[in-house]
Amino acid sequence: MKKMFLFILVTLFLGASHSSNAAATNASVPVLLYHVVSTNPDPNNQYQYSLTEFKKQMDYLKTNGYTTLSIDQYYSIINKTVSMPSKPVLLTFDDCTSDFYTNVYPILKQYGMKATQFAVSNWIDTGGHMTTSQLKIVYANGIDVQNHTTNHSSLTSLTHDQKYVAINDATTKIRSITNKSPIYCAYPNASYDTDTVSILKNLGYKIGFKVGGGLSKDTSDKYALPRSMILNGDILTVFIRKISTGQ
Ligand SMILES: [Zn+2]
Repeated sequence: MKKMFLFILVTLFLGASHSSNAAATNASVPVLLYHVVSTNPDPNNQYQYSLTEFKKQMDYLKTNGYTTLSIDQYYSIINKTVSMPSKPVLLTFDDCTSDFYTNVYPILKQYGMKATQFAVSNWIDTGGHMTTSQLKIVYANGIDVQNHTTNHSSLTSLTHDQKYVAINDATTKIRSITNKSPIYCAYPNASYDTDTVSILKNLGYKIGFKVGGGLSKDTSDKYALPRSMILNGDILTVFIRKISTGQ
Protein backbone atom coordinates (compact mmCIF):
# COMPACT_ATOMS: atom_id res chain seq x y z
CA MET A 1 0.00 0.00 0.00
CA LYS A 2 2.82 2.38 0.96
CA LYS A 3 4.66 1.47 -2.26
CA MET A 4 1.54 2.13 -4.26
CA PHE A 5 1.15 5.56 -2.61
CA LEU A 6 4.77 6.43 -3.43
CA PHE A 7 4.28 5.29 -7.01
CA ILE A 8 1.26 7.58 -7.40
CA LEU A 9 3.16 10.52 -5.87
CA VAL A 10 6.15 10.04 -8.19
CA THR A 11 3.87 9.68 -11.21
CA LEU A 12 2.03 12.88 -10.28
CA PHE A 13 5.32 14.74 -9.76
CA LEU A 14 6.80 13.60 -13.07
CA GLY A 15 3.57 14.45 -14.87
CA ALA A 16 3.50 17.95 -13.39
CA SER A 17 7.17 18.69 -14.09
CA HIS A 18 6.84 17.36 -17.64
CA SER A 19 3.93 19.64 -18.47
CA SER A 20 5.58 22.74 -16.92
CA ASN A 21 8.75 22.11 -18.97
CA ALA A 22 6.70 21.93 -22.15
CA ALA A 23 4.92 25.20 -21.30
CA ALA A 24 8.22 26.96 -20.60
CA THR A 25 9.45 26.24 -24.12
CA ASN A 26 6.36 27.56 -25.91
CA ALA A 27 7.44 30.75 -27.68
CA SER A 28 5.25 33.81 -28.06
CA VAL A 29 6.81 37.04 -29.33
CA PRO A 30 5.28 40.37 -30.38
CA VAL A 31 6.70 41.79 -33.62
CA LEU A 32 6.11 45.50 -34.16
CA LEU A 33 6.13 47.19 -37.55
CA TYR A 34 6.94 50.87 -38.04
CA HIS A 35 7.32 52.97 -41.16
CA VAL A 36 8.15 56.69 -40.98
CA VAL A 37 8.88 58.13 -37.51
CA SER A 38 8.70 61.91 -37.76
CA THR A 39 8.87 65.09 -35.66
CA ASN A 40 5.89 66.32 -37.70
CA PRO A 41 3.81 63.35 -38.89
CA ASP A 42 1.04 63.99 -41.43
CA PRO A 43 -2.16 63.31 -39.43
CA ASN A 44 -3.79 61.88 -42.59
CA ASN A 45 -1.03 59.33 -43.21
CA GLN A 46 -1.33 56.21 -41.05
CA TYR A 47 2.25 55.17 -41.91
CA GLN A 48 3.79 58.25 -40.29
CA TYR A 49 4.34 58.05 -36.56
CA SER A 50 5.19 60.69 -33.96
CA LEU A 51 8.79 60.72 -32.74
CA THR A 52 7.61 61.95 -29.32
CA GLU A 53 5.27 58.94 -28.98
CA PHE A 54 7.99 56.60 -30.27
CA LYS A 55 10.33 57.81 -27.49
CA LYS A 56 7.61 57.09 -24.92
CA GLN A 57 7.26 53.55 -26.28
CA MET A 58 10.99 52.81 -26.14
CA ASP A 59 11.10 54.26 -22.65
CA TYR A 60 8.22 51.96 -21.65
CA LEU A 61 10.07 48.91 -23.01
CA LYS A 62 13.22 49.89 -21.12
CA THR A 63 11.46 50.70 -17.85
CA ASN A 64 9.41 47.50 -17.93
CA GLY A 65 12.26 45.10 -18.61
CA TYR A 66 11.59 44.16 -22.23
CA THR A 67 14.37 42.61 -24.31
CA THR A 68 14.59 43.81 -27.91
CA LEU A 69 15.74 40.89 -30.04
CA SER A 70 18.03 40.64 -33.02
CA ILE A 71 16.26 38.87 -35.85
CA ASP A 72 18.59 35.88 -35.47
CA GLN A 73 17.60 35.63 -31.78
CA TYR A 74 13.95 35.90 -32.76
CA TYR A 75 14.33 33.09 -35.30
CA SER A 76 16.05 30.85 -32.74
CA ILE A 77 13.34 31.55 -30.16
CA ILE A 78 10.39 30.74 -32.41
CA ASN A 79 12.26 27.61 -33.52
CA LYS A 80 12.68 26.76 -29.82
CA THR A 81 16.45 26.25 -30.22
CA VAL A 82 17.12 28.88 -27.53
CA SER A 83 14.99 29.79 -24.53
CA MET A 84 12.92 32.93 -24.59
CA PRO A 85 13.67 35.92 -22.32
CA SER A 86 10.71 36.87 -20.12
CA LYS A 87 9.59 39.89 -22.17
CA PRO A 88 10.87 39.61 -25.73
CA VAL A 89 9.95 42.00 -28.55
CA LEU A 90 11.14 42.30 -32.16
CA LEU A 91 11.16 45.85 -33.55
CA THR A 92 10.96 46.07 -37.35
CA PHE A 93 11.06 49.12 -39.64
CA ASP A 94 10.15 48.93 -43.33
CA ASP A 95 11.23 50.83 -46.44
CA CYS A 96 14.64 52.27 -45.35
CA THR A 97 13.33 55.84 -45.15
CA SER A 98 15.86 58.48 -44.09
CA ASP A 99 14.06 59.29 -40.81
CA PHE A 100 15.22 55.90 -39.56
CA TYR A 101 18.77 57.19 -39.54
CA THR A 102 18.04 60.67 -38.20
CA ASN A 103 15.18 59.96 -35.73
CA VAL A 104 14.94 56.28 -34.82
CA TYR A 105 18.52 55.06 -34.80
CA PRO A 106 19.79 57.63 -32.22
CA ILE A 107 17.07 56.52 -29.75
CA LEU A 108 17.71 52.82 -30.29
CA LYS A 109 21.42 53.50 -29.79
CA GLN A 110 20.79 55.49 -26.61
CA TYR A 111 18.75 52.62 -25.14
CA GLY A 112 21.05 49.90 -26.50
CA MET A 113 18.14 48.36 -28.41
CA LYS A 114 18.22 46.00 -31.35
CA ALA A 115 15.97 46.25 -34.39
CA THR A 116 15.60 45.12 -37.99
CA GLN A 117 15.36 47.31 -41.06
CA PHE A 118 13.58 45.76 -44.08
CA ALA A 119 15.11 47.67 -46.99
CA VAL A 120 13.71 48.11 -50.50
CA SER A 121 16.97 47.67 -52.39
CA ASN A 122 16.23 49.97 -55.38
CA TRP A 123 15.25 52.79 -52.99
CA ILE A 124 18.63 52.83 -51.21
CA ASP A 125 20.61 56.00 -52.11
CA THR A 126 17.50 57.71 -53.55
CA GLY A 127 15.71 60.82 -52.20
CA GLY A 128 14.09 60.36 -48.78
CA HIS A 129 15.79 57.02 -48.19
CA MET A 130 18.88 55.83 -46.39
CA THR A 131 22.22 55.77 -48.14
CA THR A 132 24.44 52.72 -48.43
CA SER A 133 26.86 54.22 -45.93
CA GLN A 134 24.07 54.93 -43.41
CA LEU A 135 22.88 51.33 -43.70
CA LYS A 136 26.44 50.13 -43.12
CA ILE A 137 26.68 52.30 -40.00
CA VAL A 138 23.41 51.08 -38.48
CA TYR A 139 24.25 47.47 -39.37
CA ALA A 140 27.54 47.80 -37.50
CA ASN A 141 25.57 49.03 -34.45
CA GLY A 142 22.96 46.35 -33.78
CA ILE A 143 20.43 47.01 -36.56
CA ASP A 144 19.93 44.11 -38.93
CA VAL A 145 19.25 44.85 -42.60
CA GLN A 146 16.97 42.40 -44.38
CA ASN A 147 14.93 41.94 -47.57
CA HIS A 148 11.80 43.92 -48.55
CA THR A 149 12.35 43.23 -52.32
CA THR A 150 13.84 45.47 -55.02
CA ASN A 151 10.93 47.81 -55.73
CA HIS A 152 8.04 47.15 -53.29
CA SER A 153 5.68 45.68 -55.93
CA SER A 154 3.00 43.40 -54.47
CA LEU A 155 4.52 39.97 -55.09
CA THR A 156 1.17 38.43 -56.08
CA SER A 157 0.96 40.90 -59.00
CA LEU A 158 4.24 39.59 -60.48
CA THR A 159 5.05 36.59 -62.68
CA HIS A 160 7.20 33.83 -61.22
CA ASP A 161 10.34 35.23 -62.92
CA GLN A 162 9.58 38.77 -61.77
CA LYS A 163 9.09 37.58 -58.19
CA TYR A 164 12.40 35.75 -58.35
CA VAL A 165 14.22 38.86 -59.57
CA ALA A 166 12.50 41.09 -56.96
CA ILE A 167 13.71 38.86 -54.15
CA ASN A 168 17.05 37.69 -55.56
CA ASP A 169 18.37 41.09 -56.75
CA ALA A 170 17.50 42.56 -53.34
CA THR A 171 19.43 39.68 -51.75
CA THR A 172 22.52 40.59 -53.79
CA LYS A 173 22.29 44.30 -52.94
CA ILE A 174 21.81 43.71 -49.20
CA ARG A 175 24.67 41.21 -49.14
CA SER A 176 26.91 43.92 -50.66
CA ILE A 177 26.07 46.15 -47.66
CA THR A 178 26.23 43.63 -44.80
CA ASN A 179 28.65 41.03 -46.25
CA LYS A 180 26.06 38.45 -45.20
CA SER A 181 23.17 36.96 -47.18
CA PRO A 182 19.80 38.12 -45.89
CA ILE A 183 17.59 35.18 -44.89
CA TYR A 184 14.52 37.03 -43.62
CA CYS A 185 11.94 38.71 -45.86
CA ALA A 186 9.01 41.07 -45.26
CA TYR A 187 6.37 40.95 -48.00
CA PRO A 188 5.67 44.42 -49.49
CA ASN A 189 2.00 45.33 -48.92
CA ALA A 190 1.73 42.01 -47.01
CA SER A 191 1.19 40.33 -50.41
CA TYR A 192 2.48 36.78 -50.96
CA ASP A 193 1.42 33.39 -52.32
CA THR A 194 2.69 29.80 -52.43
CA ASP A 195 4.99 30.64 -55.37
CA THR A 196 6.57 33.43 -53.28
CA VAL A 197 7.18 31.01 -50.43
CA SER A 198 8.79 28.39 -52.69
CA ILE A 199 11.13 31.05 -54.17
CA LEU A 200 12.11 32.16 -50.65
CA LYS A 201 12.83 28.58 -49.60
CA ASN A 202 14.92 27.97 -52.74
CA LEU A 203 16.97 31.09 -51.99
CA GLY A 204 17.63 29.98 -48.41
CA TYR A 205 15.15 32.30 -46.68
CA LYS A 206 13.92 31.16 -43.25
CA ILE A 207 11.11 33.63 -42.62
CA GLY A 208 8.42 35.63 -44.43
CA PHE A 209 6.54 38.35 -42.54
CA LYS A 210 2.98 39.34 -43.30
CA VAL A 211 1.01 42.03 -41.39
CA GLY A 212 -1.49 41.39 -38.59
CA GLY A 213 -2.30 38.04 -37.02
CA GLY A 214 -1.41 38.48 -33.35
CA LEU A 215 1.72 37.29 -31.58
CA SER A 216 4.20 35.04 -33.40
CA LYS A 217 4.48 31.60 -31.87
CA ASP A 218 6.58 28.48 -32.38
CA THR A 219 3.49 26.96 -34.00
CA SER A 220 3.11 29.85 -36.50
CA ASP A 221 3.76 29.31 -40.22
CA LYS A 222 7.35 30.58 -40.62
CA TYR A 223 6.49 32.08 -44.03
CA ALA A 224 3.41 33.91 -42.76
CA LEU A 225 4.60 35.37 -39.48
CA PRO A 226 2.47 38.12 -37.97
CA ARG A 227 3.49 41.71 -37.29
CA SER A 228 1.52 44.41 -35.47
CA MET A 229 1.67 47.73 -37.25
CA ILE A 230 2.09 50.83 -35.09
CA LEU A 231 -0.20 53.40 -36.70
CA ASN A 232 -0.37 57.18 -36.57
CA GLY A 233 -2.32 58.13 -33.44
CA ASP A 234 -1.59 54.94 -31.46
CA ILE A 235 -1.23 56.18 -27.89
CA LEU A 236 0.81 54.37 -25.24
CA THR A 237 -2.13 52.25 -24.05
CA VAL A 238 -2.63 50.97 -27.62
CA PHE A 239 1.10 50.19 -27.84
CA ILE A 240 0.90 48.25 -24.56
CA ARG A 241 -2.08 46.29 -25.88
CA LYS A 242 -0.23 45.50 -29.14
CA ILE A 243 2.88 44.18 -27.39
CA SER A 244 0.67 42.12 -25.07
CA THR A 245 -1.77 40.65 -27.59
CA GLY A 246 -0.34 41.42 -31.03
CA GLN A 247 -3.71 43.05 -31.89
ZN1 LIG B 1 7.03 48.42 -47.18
